[in-house]
Amino acid sequence: MNSPANANLFSRLFGSLDDPSRLAIETPDGRHISYGDLIERSGQIANFLVKRGVKTGDRVAVQVEKSVENLILYLAVVRAGAVYLPLNTAYTLNELDYFVTDAEPSLVVCDPAKAEGLRAIAAKVGAVIETLDADGKGSLSEGADAEKADFATVPRENDDLAAILYTSGTTGRSKGAMLSHDNLASNSRTLVDYWRFTDKDVLIHALPIYHTHGLFVASNVTLFARAAMIFLPKLDPERIIKLMPRATVLMGVPTFYTRLLQSPNLTKETTSHMRLFISGSAPLLAETHREWSARTGHAVLERYGMTETNMNTSNPYDGERVPGAVGFPLPGVSARVVDPESGKPLAADEIGMIEVKGPNVFKGYWRMPEKTKADFRDDGFFITGDLGKIDAKGYVHIVGRGKDLVISGGFNVYPKEIESEIDAIDGVVESAVIGVPHADFGEGVTAVVVPQKGAKLDEASILHALDGRLAKFKMPKRVLFEDDLPRNTMGKVQKNVLREKYKALYAK
Ligand code: AMP
Repeated sequence: MNSPANANLFSRLFGSLDDPSRLAIETPDGRHISYGDLIERSGQIANFLVKRGVKTGDRVAVQVEKSVENLILYLAVVRAGAVYLPLNTAYTLNELDYFVTDAEPSLVVCDPAKAEGLRAIAAKVGAVIETLDADGKGSLSEGADAEKADFATVPRENDDLAAILYTSGTTGRSKGAMLSHDNLASNSRTLVDYWRFTDKDVLIHALPIYHTHGLFVASNVTLFARAAMIFLPKLDPERIIKLMPRATVLMGVPTFYTRLLQSPNLTKETTSHMRLFISGSAPLLAETHREWSARTGHAVLERYGMTETNMNTSNPYDGERVPGAVGFPLPGVSARVVDPESGKPLAADEIGMIEVKGPNVFKGYWRMPEKTKADFRDDGFFITGDLGKIDAKGYVHIVGRGKDLVISGGFNVYPKEIESEIDAIDGVVESAVIGVPHADFGEGVTAVVVPQKGAKLDEASILHALDGRLAKFKMPKRVLFEDDLPRNTMGKVQKNVLREKYKALYAK
């Protein structure tokens, strides 16, 4: 089917397929999709893409609900030598205008409900529109039905682009991270080995597929291993627990684990067939890690990555999975912690900027050469924007995004340190520490606390509990209470939302 010299991710995924009848995906409504089906259907879709004018290197922007057809569309775009550009299903037309204008795709695939609104936007860049709904139906699948399955995978080089994923853009404009065929293939292969994936594995796939976690980590790793996945539209704790006796691996964001822990059905027995629970995309509280171990007997394996870099570090499969740490740099990945200003490497346990280098690291931001240049060091390391440290044993720890660092009276205050102290207070579920503009201090350390229902906590009791545990300059100037912290779909706390809400807190 493909020459082995072809670096196209599709050829690398399926080039040496031994048994096309092997199960690749199962859906809750009982559909079984084999590896052979993926190859055939992607061929039909790829033929249709070409008919609709998609050429090598063109972007195909896709904003559709998760479905098997959506995943196959991704494979087909890559196979056709085009660049897959998934978009969060929550984006509004107004936001889509920016992405489409910026990326200039030749084809936009959207939900039928959005087609009318998108037409004018697509017309601005000369893109055509096809539709695909949550059931995998629409003009795209109808068009593909009429095509033949044979398609010669377009030859691509290692550094050619396979995908552009826009970063979530919680500060400033969202940027398109350009990912090459080799970025994606090499990282998935590394993870297959590191996490010991085999063709016996069955992954519970409940993540969205417009994000690096669900699209690349979960799907590519499963497919490279010739394993199977059970494709769920979204997080549904009870359904996941019911599936565990037939599955072996779960990949989730921390919210998966906190939500699953709320179910009395999560037990040692219900999880006994599972071999691996993986968490990433946001910090897993050490508390959640411990609770999970106590309840199920499994230590969650936490890993760290980002849209721009794929996966960088992972706790070990065999060695100790340390709660609150994100593990070691993956094979082939170099990670270091440096002084953010001077770029000088720091000693073990010193907090600074995490920088990474390796075949996993992206090719730069789409049409932003200046921003790309600013985010790489001369020796090729990418400046992640995450602050952290590497301990004496070599485990990487993340203390938060650089932009979340609070500078109060000229002192650096790392929110995570204060959050850990607050979270340890009886009656606290979780907390977020932010910097809020303050006339005297530049920024005032401000704590937002989620109390347990019925807990008797107020500002004074929190401050009293912290007294003597934190240096004066780290003490929150105000403690506020909320029922929940704002989170995005990947489980990340949106501190920008909190900063906006409380921006006038210290205004005179
Ligand atoms: P995204 O590009 O949406 O995948 O977000 C990447 C960012 O998520 C990273 O730069 C980190 O700030 C954060 N992140 C990912 N994994 C972890 C983790 N295991 N612990 C803490 N933060 C994480």
